[in-house]
Amino acid sequence: MDARIPTTSRPEPAPQARDLLAWYDRHARALPWRVPPQERAHGVVADPYRIWLSEIMLQQTTVAAVKSYFEKFVGLWPTVADLAAVGEEDVMKAWAGLGYYSRARNLKKCADAVVARHDGRFPETEAALQDLPGIGAYTSAAIATIAFDQPAIVVDGNVERVISRLFEVETPLPAAKPEIKALTATIAPRERPGDFAQAMMDLGATICTPKRPACSLCPWNDACAAFAAGTAETFPRKMPKKQKPTRSGAAFVAVRADGAVLLRRRPPEGLLGGMSEVPGTPWAEDFAAPEAAAHAPLDARWALRTGPVKHTFTHFHLLLDVYHAELPHAVPAPDGHWWSARDDLDGEALPTVMRKAVAAGLGKTLKAR
Ligand code: SF4
Repeated sequence: MDARIPTTSRPEPAPQARDLLAWYDRHARALPWRVPPQERAHGVVADPYRIWLSEIMLQQTTVAAVKSYFEKFVGLWPTVADLAAVGEEDVMKAWAGLGYYSRARNLKKCADAVVARHDGRFPETEAALQDLPGIGAYTSAAIATIAFDQPAIVVDGNVERVISRLFEVETPLPAAKPEIKALTATIAPRERPGDFAQAMMDLGATICTPKRPACSLCPWNDACAAFAAGTAETFPRKMPKKQKPTRSGAAFVAVRADGAVLLRRRPPEGLLGGMSEVPGTPWAEDFAAPEAAAHAPLDARWALRTGPVKHTFTHFHLLLDVYHAELPHAVPAPDGHWWSARDDLDGEALPTVMRKAVAAGLGKTLKAR
């Protein structure tokens, strides 16, 4: 890591961890995986399983989106051993709708590894945590510090925003990451490292927000370079975003006389790997709509639904033409496909884009996950 610390012009005094911790003691968000600072002060420790689960779920997603999934997972599987004891298919079904499905597969692999290699107890160091599937540099630091109070430096998007403003970091992200981590280390305390990491996240999420930060309420406003300069909203600096390409394709929603819908499983690796889907074409920038019929799973009177389904992935936009056909009850599912009863559809491991496609095909909304 490049640990150079830039010499920015910044106001005195320097930001003090104790000011942030005092603010956190009063304003910590109540989160279902969190031990509040008052309880931590009385020796209550966080459950590493819950911290790990929340951190994996929170990657690329918001707290609001994660809460109900977190509650569902700890309700179904209260310990890492419970999660290790179920099949991947059950985990994928419970995860459906949360996106970035490789995380769900790694979640299961990691639970298996914690049970097999560590007797069901998460290791405490960053290095040992990073040896587990799906745990990278950020997540290992977050678990080590929040669950075990190790002095690890945790930098997520919230922390990047706070630090880049406090110190007016001119280097654009992502190149600024090492600089921001080094600056965070200069203000991280020896005492209460876990609370400090969570306080930084809370400050970024509730006060030092991307737009219109509430600087007047900030415990560090007398030490913030960007606030002093009136430039807070211009940080963090970012490289211009690349335009996302648009891919197109077709999906076929075959509905049997009893209402069952034809599904198949996607290959285990790659985008949405292992999830369920309605049959369809590959997705391509040069997709030719007239060739879609060759990919229909069954011989039927396919009717094109009005307007393509739109969905955006990390690297591309997708426009999906949806075809619909009614099939007699006796029609068997082709190899590798199955008929999913209408009442079972909500419980299938259908990613959001496929829920949209099925809803368009059926002409009704499928239960949101
Ligand atoms: S003073 Fe404003 S810009 Fe600076 S850290 Fe606080 S909320 Fe962020």
